[in-house]
Amino acid sequence: MSHDSRSELYQQVILEHNKKPRNCRKLQGATHSAEGYNPLCGDHLTVYLHVNNENIIDDISFEGDGCAISQASSSMMTAALKGKPIDEAKDLFGQFHKLITGELDPDKDQHSLGKLAVFSGIWHFPARVKCASLAWHTMNGAVEHKETISTE
Ligand code: ZN
Repeated sequence: MSHDSRSELYQQVILEHNKKPRNCRKLQGATHSAEGYNPLCGDHLTVYLHVNNENIIDDISFEGDGCAISQASSSMMTAALKGKPIDEAKDLFGQFHKLITGELDPDKDQHSLGKLAVFSGIWHFPARVKCASLAWHTMNGAVEHKETISTE
């Protein structure tokens, strides 16, 4: 995919997920949850997971306030992780982190990011990387039983 068509797609995806965020609610009976802050931008969210006894994320949600990028990233993350085993979620977090820091090129490197690949190119805007990664750090913190995650 060319750089231009990917950045156009990025704009569309961010707008669309902002308008209709997926899984944006408090999850009753969550087995894991954590709160994440990005003081640099003012993003603040809580990620909830329900992990079953086979270590599969059978439900995941988020709620909070923040910029368009943090909201869209949270929405896309929950859509990507629902139904996935914890191990795969952690692996995807690793891939996503490499993508947004410019270490993974979705056109050249092997990955299983799917639609999340639209975030490639965000590494040109370091302040925005924290907005895009907040939900993921918070999800990872919840799984590791940390209560509060800050990007600072
Ligand atoms: Zn932000």
